[in-house]
Amino acid sequence: MLIRKAARYRLEPLAEQEHLLSRAVGCARFVWNRALAIQKSSLDHGCGLLSYGDMAKCLTTWRNSEAFGFLAESPSQPQQQTLRFLDRALQDVFDKKNPKRFPVFKKKGRHDSMRYPDPGQIKIDLKPEDDDGRSVLPKIFLPRIGWVKFRKSRLIGGEIRNVTVSRSGGHWYVAIQIEKEIADPVHPSASAVGGDRGVANLLTLSDGTMFLPVPSYRDRQKRLAKEQKKLAHKVKFSANWRKQKAKITRWHQKTADMRKTVLHQISTAISQNHAVVVLEDLKVRNMTASARGTIAHPGRQVRQKAGLNKAILDQGWSTLLRLLEYKLRWAGGMLLLVDPAYTSQICPVCGVADAENRKTQAVFLCRHCGHTDNADVNAARNILARGLQSTAGHAGLACFAA
Ligand SMILES: [Zn+2]
Repeated sequence: MLIRKAARYRLEPLAEQEHLLSRAVGCARFVWNRALAIQKSSLDHGCGLLSYGDMAKCLTTWRNSEAFGFLAESPSQPQQQTLRFLDRALQDVFDKKNPKRFPVFKKKGRHDSMRYPDPGQIKIDLKPEDDDGRSVLPKIFLPRIGWVKFRKSRLIGGEIRNVTVSRSGGHWYVAIQIEKEIADPVHPSASAVGGDRGVANLLTLSDGTMFLPVPSYRDRQKRLAKEQKKLAHKVKFSANWRKQKAKITRWHQKTADMRKTVLHQISTAISQNHAVVVLEDLKVRNMTASARGTIAHPGRQVRQKAGLNKAILDQGWSTLLRLLEYKLRWAGGMLLLVDPAYTSQICPVCGVADAENRKTQAVFLCRHCGHTDNADVNAARNILARGLQSTAGHAGLACFAA
């Protein structure tokens, strides 16, 4: 099995390298915005999209022109890659099955990144010491920028696929994507589990495991709102405004990191313990009309927690699915997604679905047979059952215990 993995490291560029990086991502942004403007106008005139090849020719012209010759001072491959990204984004808009939003113009300071698509151009020097035996940071060679030091936290193993450089919260980062071949894994466990996005818990599993929300996450969000208010009172583009803006960016960054950490912990725990995981497929669910929230009359505390879960999972659900999907695959397991409709109302004993079965947020009580259970666990069990049903006849799954 071929797997791909990416690791992000903090770069420690010299002042002059920082200047070059700044200019290079600025050029990539310029290329994106100019190409997007051209494509928009082409569409507006009913001429359809220009191909990647046409846009690449434009780029060459720009780089050789007097007006845009500054582009030629920055690495060319990230600029071509930017055109490829834009081409993909525009194709996605017209995708019939799953159309995406129209790409937007990029702003300085918000989308400062570029990708080197060709691993042949990248070199990495992991030597832990210099010639005099002093310990040094590893270095990565980026075309037109030079050898840049970076902070290595984990070992990089495998074949480099591509490298993305970005600026965020005043720091520079490099994300290195690697690819390696590993033997087809066999999952050590034979268990299958369903999971429900709860109100009181982030996620409840059908075996009763509950992942609690992170309390400090809520405080961070409150603080963020406060800092944003402060920003609104400052004179736009003033020194203080910029300072405040940088502060907010750092907060966003940290909050996002926190969310990621939680999602990594959850996905690692689940993927190690269970070979088959069934979760709700949100694509088939209208998220605003959350059935569970409207049935009961949740108290204030519950609503606060719901807000907290919402904040973490609404922004993180697709990430959680992605993490679980690959962690399970690497471990030899699999992730199944099912339609979650009525999973909170169905009685697993008598099979009757009734909105009255879930009178309160916490307790499931079947009006027909009297079966009772924790409401979230019950929903998770129904999700699991639906997942196993959907794969009935799938021989490989017969051995998994529910
Ligand atoms: Zn029942």
